[in-house]
Amino acid sequence: MNIKRNVLLNPGPATTTDTVKMAQVVPDICPREKEFASMMKDLRADLLRVAHAPAEKYTSVLFCGSGTINIDICLNSLLPEGKRVLVVNNGAYSSRAVEICQYYGLPHIDLRSSVFEQPDLAAVKQTLDDNPDIALVYTTHHETGTGVLNPIREIGALAHSHGAVFVVDTTSSLGMIPFDMEHDNVDFCMASAQKGLMAMTGLSFIIGNEEEIRRSKNYPKRSYYCNLYLQYDFFERTGEMHFTPPVQTIYATRQALKEYFEVGETEKFARHRRVIDAIHDGLADMGLREVIRRDIQSGLVASVLYPDDENWNFERVHDYCYEHGFTIYPGKISTTNTFRLCALGTIDKPDIEAFFVVLREAFAKYGIQIPARYND
Ligand SMILES: *Cc1c(COP(=O)(O)O)cnc(C)c1O
Repeated sequence: MNIKRNVLLNPGPATTTDTVKMAQVVPDICPREKEFASMMKDLRADLLRVAHAPAEKYTSVLFCGSGTINIDICLNSLLPEGKRVLVVNNGAYSSRAVEICQYYGLPHIDLRSSVFEQPDLAAVKQTLDDNPDIALVYTTHHETGTGVLNPIREIGALAHSHGAVFVVDTTSSLGMIPFDMEHDNVDFCMASAQKGLMAMTGLSFIIGNEEEIRRSKNYPKRSYYCNLYLQYDFFERTGEMHFTPPVQTIYATRQALKEYFEVGETEKFARHRRVIDAIHDGLADMGLREVIRRDIQSGLVASVLYPDDENWNFERVHDYCYEHGFTIYPGKISTTNTFRLCALGTIDKPDIEAFFVVLREAFAKYGIQIPARYND
């Protein structure tokens, strides 16, 4: 089968290999069969290996849903009665966690700071010192909305020295940036199959400290479908998801993990680096400005400032690129107009070079100046 290859420069779902796409085409199977449970068992073990999480201490729990389901589950399931959540918030995804706390009525502190900077560790420490009832510290590893990478190891150390559990949204870093549960001081991390693993949408997973999950058995049950302990316990007893799993996505994820381990963490990271370097170079050649300092960038997302050009129109440029097989994406910064180019997926430097040819064509077609014009 010949499947058209699109280069996705949006922040996930990412460009996949044809072998991952085709892995979904399998004989029909009832997911309650032993064959399917045994596949999920292997998959759960492989996910631990991606996070370098020793199986004696950590477990992975699968859910059917997009990545946000993980944020919802961790927050509503892991907070003991009478305790508080501290959200270290410097971007759109941590703000989503704050909204989830609001929806569940969870006592929380929204420690908000500039989306253009990393969080201030002294402020995190002070907040923990002042509020001994904080039992859960939450942050986002890679704020995909801007491309800022957060210092999770340091925040985790502060959480632990104050006796709090540390939950990190690693949706847009796991499987791309080398990560180690124990070294990075993380108790719970999360992702979904269509991001770093380059599989399909519909499967999300939480990797976490098994003892903490067991302890949460007696915490308030705030959701029926999205409870971590209930899903964990069902897996332990039956090897299955509580409710219908995303069958075909699980087949695709199994194939994607096989390809992940064949390439290896180091080589995959190096490829993402090549891609983002090509993006930085292409932008600089066109005079397009990035809004985040290079030294705090994840190396997976470039946030590009809209040029001050009367002919600039993101929609038109997007549509031109899209028609030519390249998908670019709007930014997520409320105060500044940006668009994003991301280095996820099975793409490499030649794809980025080909993209910049198309982007220059779009600029020429709509009369947008190169080098890009900025008013200051
Ligand atoms: C993609 C992403 C999510 C999940 O978003 P969904 O739209 O629910 O898949 C969560 N956190 C981060 C940091 C992400 O990049």
